[in-house]
Amino acid sequence: MSDPVDVLIIGAGASGAAVAWSLAETRMRILCLEQGDWVKPTDYPSNGRDWEERQFGDFAISPNRRGNRADYPINEDDSPIKIANFNGVGGSTILYAAHFPRMHPSDFRVRTIDGVADDWPVDYRTLEPFFALNDRMMGIASLAGDPAYPPKEAVLPPLPLGRTGERLGAAMNRLGWHWWAADSAISSVDYEGRAKCINLGHCIAGCAQGAKASTDITYWPQAMRQRVQLRTNARVREITVNDQGMANGAIYYDAEGTEHFQAAEVVIIACNGVGTPRLLLNSKSTAFPDGLANSSGLVGRNLMFHPYASIRGYFAEPLDGYRGPHIGTWSQQFYETDRSRGFVRGYTYQFVRGQGPVAAATLGMAAGRVPWGAEHHRAYRQVFDRSAGMVAICEDLPEEHNTVTLDSVLKDSHGIPAPRITYRLSENSLRMLEHAKARGTDILREAGAHDVVAESPLPHAGWHLMGTARMGTDPKRSVVNEWGRCHDVRNLFIVDGSIFVTSGGVNPTATIQALALYVADSIKRRLDNLFD
Ligand SMILES: Cc1cc2nc3c(=O)[nH]c(=O)nc-3n(C[C@H](O)[C@H](O)[C@H](O)COP(=O)(O)OP(=O)(O)OC[C@H]3O[C@@H](n4cnc5c(N)ncnc54)[C@H](O)[C@@H]3O)c2cc1C
Ligand code: SF4
Repeated sequence: MSDPVDVLIIGAGASGAAVAWSLAETRMRILCLEQGDWVKPTDYPSNGRDWEERQFGDFAISPNRRGNRADYPINEDDSPIKIANFNGVGGSTILYAAHFPRMHPSDFRVRTIDGVADDWPVDYRTLEPFFALNDRMMGIASLAGDPAYPPKEAVLPPLPLGRTGERLGAAMNRLGWHWWAADSAISSVDYEGRAKCINLGHCIAGCAQGAKASTDITYWPQAMRQRVQLRTNARVREITVNDQGMANGAIYYDAEGTEHFQAAEVVIIACNGVGTPRLLLNSKSTAFPDGLANSSGLVGRNLMFHPYASIRGYFAEPLDGYRGPHIGTWSQQFYETDRSRGFVRGYTYQFVRGQGPVAAATLGMAAGRVPWGAEHHRAYRQVFDRSAGMVAICEDLPEEHNTVTLDSVLKDSHGIPAPRITYRLSENSLRMLEHAKARGTDILREAGAHDVVAESPLPHAGWHLMGTARMGTDPKRSVVNEWGRCHDVRNLFIVDGSIFVTSGGVNPTATIQALALYVADSIKRRLDNLFD
């Protein structure tokens, strides 16, 4: 048995890193167990010419395809949207696109405003200082003054618009629709030891330049300098409880497959919206026969993704190609509810650059645009470098029948039951996706595209994982309280996207990390009476 610690964090991704760094100043003994390892920047695909091919291999976004040692399999047969993640120090921020919008104030009050889902037990104003702190820790490039948000500070100058941003921005101006420079966790100038972005354009395969703010290079080095311990290749099987029903540690396997017990006074889970319910459901005991902290029966329920639509236009003139961060501008014209559109809530458009050379060829062939034979080169030249478009990130409302459960057959390499995803797109989401494709086509036509292709839902875009251990004040209708503490277990906390009540229509990581810092702050303020 290892020495007991005061705080045991499970998962070293976006939220685990933030909570570890924030608690470090208490000088408590803090240990994080992470099932994956450090990733060396020299191993990133962006160092080699085969970077696109490796995105279908050891750096695939799908853990089922990647199948690395740190990955666990996921049964997603019963979901039209497949899971994307990364397991290692930095978690899914290793592969994320670093698009960094905050949720809007309205997102925390959807029951009050629109009569759907539930209001959150916290609001935007409460989280605002933690959004700002996180922006400084991650080094967010942005342009102050976006009318879609309450005023907020820009930490770094915005990323350049490029030809794509200028072209689509001009079209939006003619239409009279909102657009703005996107908030990005990508350094536009050298920042805190991180070199600035040099527009390599391989962000989703990991940024070897260190410009993209994955938490292995932002929070973790600072937390470890303050003596937080990080133990890698440590896969947690279950959280254990004592006779009083309090968490007292975790059982995990090391790289050799040897089982260990780690004792702890406080346990914090940060395994993401799929890993967290899986761990809770695997932590059964006499006191918690249906899984830990699950007296509400809501652990694993209300799974939310963001259904995505993709709208891509083809232009006569060259644009930026794939060079540069994928996303430089956004629009929130259709973010808030307008019932005349036939659905509630809304979506964000992220304007995206072109595709890499291999993707342009393979997707061009699949779409019948780039044939084999004599015509190939001419057709390829018309596609490569000449496309741009947008994705629409649609708000997904919570529904109890969308679940993470334990698969009865599938297990990971340590024999631990694997998660199974059951998910259906709602009628509201389907209507929103149709709207997003139609308005997106209008925008691209206005920008001069001679051809537009729209698709939804994107099948491999299950990268935002939310809602499976929701927050709330009523223990019958939620898993954690308004500051992240499990209703059923007073020394057990959850800080990842599982605790979201609703999903908003933006990428979630800025809000996940602000929440993690807010939970850490709540713990620090209550250290004398944490278990009352
Ligand atoms: C391809 C891709 C693109 C994305 N783009 C964006 C974007 O542009 N903007 C945005 O906001 N978000 C984006 N995301 C999502 C973003 O990465 C996640 O929202 C964020 O990382 C979630 O943080 P987390 O702490 O909840 O979980 P993660 O960062 O996923 O970390 C969870 C960690 O827990 C570990 N873990 C799980 N179970 C166990 C266990 N039993 N024992 C030990 N360790 C365990 C995992 O190994 C992992 O390292 C993207 C994700 C992907 C995959
Ligand atoms: S475009 Fe910038 S952020 Fe993206 S991988 Fe290249 S250097 Fe990194």
